[in-house]
Amino acid sequence: MKSYLIIGSGLVGRLLAWRLLSAGYSVDILSSDDRLGTGSAGYIAAAMISPATEAITTDPMVQTMGLRSLQLWPQWLAELSQPIFYQQHGTLVVAHAGDKAEMARFRKRAEYTLSAADFKILNQQQLANLEPQLAQQFDNAMYFEQEACLDNRHLYQQLGDILAAECHWQRCEDIDVLTEHSIDQVCQQYFSHDAAKYDAVIDCRGNGAHRDIDKLRSVRGEVIRVHAPDVEFKHAIRLIHPRYPFYLAPRPNNEYVLGATVIESDDMSPVSLRSGLELMSALYSLHKGFSEARILEMSVHCRPAMVNNMPNIKRTKWGFHLNGFYRHGYLFSPAIITDFLNILDGQQDSVSFGEYYDV
Ligand SMILES: Cc1cc2nc3c(=O)[nH]c(=O)nc-3n(C[C@H](O)[C@H](O)[C@H](O)COP(=O)(O)OP(=O)(O)OC[C@H]3O[C@@H](n4cnc5c(N)ncnc54)[C@H](O)[C@@H]3O)c2cc1C
Repeated sequence: MKSYLIIGSGLVGRLLAWRLLSAGYSVDILSSDDRLGTGSAGYIAAAMISPATEAITTDPMVQTMGLRSLQLWPQWLAELSQPIFYQQHGTLVVAHAGDKAEMARFRKRAEYTLSAADFKILNQQQLANLEPQLAQQFDNAMYFEQEACLDNRHLYQQLGDILAAECHWQRCEDIDVLTEHSIDQVCQQYFSHDAAKYDAVIDCRGNGAHRDIDKLRSVRGEVIRVHAPDVEFKHAIRLIHPRYPFYLAPRPNNEYVLGATVIESDDMSPVSLRSGLELMSALYSLHKGFSEARILEMSVHCRPAMVNNMPNIKRTKWGFHLNGFYRHGYLFSPAIITDFLNILDGQQDSVSFGEYYDV
């Protein structure tokens, strides 16, 4: 049986470990994180799967890759024993009067980047039919029907349980630069054998790999998570804002995640006052029912990003780096991991989006 070592148990590491197990392989994990994954960017993420709205502000390739993931997510989630909240009602994009020029630009870019079938323009009545509480505040919206978001905490928990039961999983704080020698050392220390046992070692440390991956940078993101019994939004909502791409992702039981700031920094200190104010006022501006919401948490993590903000899949002397998922870990992972498994099996030479990969 083929055997793999995964280093890092955040979003990419835990999804990859699960898919390798599902394919019948043996997996060992070394990670500085706990079983819940609280030390990973993917744990605090809004977990939007938004190929169209992201492509508008980034790269058209984002849509191609994201649409593949959008097809794979429901199939993957159906394999889990408990249903994961997966909201497939799409994304509504709205703007306040003062940001109409930004909205007009967003719409122009949508028309340029996407096909006409990818979105609709809704008037107030159409918006009210879809999301009545939002139409109290906004008289039009753009609607991207083919987008989704999921309950990442529940996903993390279920995957954590599976991996804890089926993998050798050791918590280790002492991995720094990866070399054939350093990997042998940690394997000896934690598993009492060297790395030759593995068919490949796969590094999924996100920001933790910055000493190994040239030009890997961190992009700070701050989010707020609330419980708002007076708000009944069913769709993901993107609020056009001059500084941040704010989006509201619904969770079960009237919980909502609103994110996120995008700040060029590796600072993991708590949410700043300014960002807290911006997040809370964005929330309140979407619906007054948020005034009585209870703040469950305000969190920070950094997105691991390359210069072009696209994923970096790189073969090394000792295995592979899978990194650079930036703000698209949920959007890209199923597509990229599927291709990566084919590469490990020798069925595919490179990932479908060859220009972004270096395998
Ligand atoms: C605020 C915010 C909102 C986001 N919203 C979205 C969204 O809506 N949609 C979307 O698609 N993406 C979103 N993302 C992006 C997504 O979370 C990331 O792209 C994704 O988490 C990257 O996955 P990763 O596994 O590479 O890194 P991580 O999820 O950060 O996992 C890295 C893991 O490696 C471990 N590790 C680090 N260093 C070491 C070491 N030296 N030794 C061992 N283990 C180590 C860490 O503890 C962690 O568990 C968001 C990110 C943030 C911060």
